[in-house]
Parts: sequence; C-alpha cells; structure tokens
Amino acid sequence: MIDRLTPLLAERPWLLADGATGSNLFDRGLQSGDAPELWNTAHPDRISGLHRAFVDAGADIILTNSFGGTRYRLKLHKAEHRVAELNETAAALARAEADRAGRVVLVGGSIGPTGEILEPLGPLGLDAAAEAFAEQAAALARGGADLMWIETMSSIEETEAAIAGARTTGLPIVATLSFDTNGRTMMGVTPSELAGLHRKHRLAASGSNCGTGPSELVACIVNLAAASDPSAILVAKANCGIPQFRDGEIRFDGTPELMAEYARLSMDSGARIIGGCCGTTPEHLRVMRRALEAHVRQPAPDLTTIESELGAISSGASAQLRGEFSRQAGAVGGATGKRSTGRRSPRTENS
Ligand SMILES: [Zn+2]
Repeated sequence: MIDRLTPLLAERPWLLADGATGSNLFDRGLQSGDAPELWNTAHPDRISGLHRAFVDAGADIILTNSFGGTRYRLKLHKAEHRVAELNETAAALARAEADRAGRVVLVGGSIGPTGEILEPLGPLGLDAAAEAFAEQAAALARGGADLMWIETMSSIEETEAAIAGARTTGLPIVATLSFDTNGRTMMGVTPSELAGLHRKHRLAASGSNCGTGPSELVACIVNLAAASDPSAILVAKANCGIPQFRDGEIRFDGTPELMAEYARLSMDSGARIIGGCCGTTPEHLRVMRRALEAHVRQPAPDLTTIESELGAISSGASAQLRGEFSRQAGAVGGATGKRSTGRRSPRTENS
C-alpha cells in the first residue's frame, strides 16, 4: 500500500484535520441513540455534504463516518452483519469528496472503540478484538482510505488490538487517545505511555482527541511531545470547548476564536496534524486554517499561558507538566470517579 501521508508532511509544516463527525450529524438531523454509520447508506448526501464542507474549509485530512463501525458497536443497532458494506461506503464517500478537492486531501479511516472491556479486565479477548478491527480496516481500505485513524481510545490493550487489526491493510496508522480523566485516559494511560506505544508500533502519528476541552488537550500535547522522539508526528484534535450538559444534551460552545488560539498553541506544543473533535463545525475549521497559515511557531506554552489563553488544566495534567509521573499525579480523578466534564455518553463518544 502507498503511504501518502509522509510525502505531504515533508512539504508542509502542518496539516489540518477535519472537525467533528457526530455532533455535526446531530445538527443535520441524527437522533440521539441512532448509529451515525447507518447514514452512510440511508443519507449518503448528508455525509458527503459534511465532508465537502470540511474540505472547503481547508481540511487536509478528512475522517470517514465509521467511528462505531466494528461489529461490536454495530451489534447495538442490529447491524453487525453490515460491517463491510457500511465501512466501505464510508470510505468511498470521503474518497469522492477528497478527490474533488483539486489539491491533496487524505482520507483517514476512522476506527473507534468496540465499547467492550478487553481482557484481562473484561470479557473480550485480544484476538477477537483484533479480528473485528481487521474486518473494519479491510473495508475502509477497500473503500479508498489513505490512513487508518484509530481514535478516542482509552486502554493500551484495545489500542494495540486496533493497531494489529489496522496493520493488516499495510496503510499508515494514526492512533489518538482521549485523555479525559485528570491528565490520563479513563483507563489510566498517560501521554508518556502513548509515546511508548508510538515507538513500539512505529505509528505514522499519535496524539490526543476528544476529552474535556482545548486547554487540557494542549497540555496533553506538551506532555506527549516531552516523552516522544523529536521526529514523531503528533496529532491534536480537541473538542470545541468544554462539554456542557444542558437540557438533557451535551453541548459544545467554543468560539472560532478559541479554536484558533487552540490551533496556534497546538502547533507551538509540537503537533503537526491539528483539527477539532466534538462541536467543531466547518466554520470553526475555516478560522483555524487561517490562524495556522498566519502563525509562526513559538516555543511550547507553559501552564500559565495555556490557562490564560484556553482555560484551566486538571491537577493531573499540571503535575505531568512539572515532570511528575507518579501514579498519584494524574490518578486522583479516576480514583474518585470525579469526571464531571469528561464522562462518556453516546453523544460525545462519536467524535
Ligand atoms: Zn470528541
């Protein structure tokens, strides 16, 4: 398989990834509890329209509408027998819009968690998980994906199973985790542990997506960069502000200006692929593109700068910024179950 990412990164200082899939589909009529992947065949025009809006806004990488496309997630919607069809269609829809751009736009085949707990903590075996991811990945590759884009992961085991599955395609692999629990993932993984995974599996890129907001995500990129090889390609894909629970729904109310500042600070922190997650609309992305084009990279921001520009950072991420990696630093939130802003829900889990 051809690697189209490396040549593009060689000629560009940064690449703009797209914004949210799930929250933008809710704005286009998707109902809470619906599987977004079913829209690939039920409403292909709406999926294509969202891809086109991100391409028009300047995205260099667009992600397929396949986040919940493993057989385990589709089973919740009685569609586990449609893995090949839904994922191949997802990639084909994105491919068509990328190819119409008149410039190089890459298609990342989105692969999200199975929703199951893996061994040794849960019932799903590693081999079974890897097989499910391979099934999804093969369909994404057949549909025309350029990259395998593993996202919103929280455990080492599931990330490695997804990498094993994605590896069967021979395409470059990107893996991003959601560090939404006091500087760690829900399962306790730190950015420095992700740097280890990046090295071990020779990932094309690794990083952070979703989570609790732009400030926390930028702090996470600083921590990831500190633990990564200087040549490692890092990805920042933050939610559009801190999730707010209002009127029975999760809402994101970050302004385009906030996301522009987040994009600049992500670049300063060492991210080379920058986009948005939940709540990020094409209009936010357009402003982020202009911000990145006008920005000259500065030294990585310190804690004070991040907090004054983007908002407060958790005590765990702050401790990591100070070089403290003990279990205590960053484990507190998870240990006490206090995750008021980062708790997963069907609305936020689909990036
Ligand atoms: Zn998200």
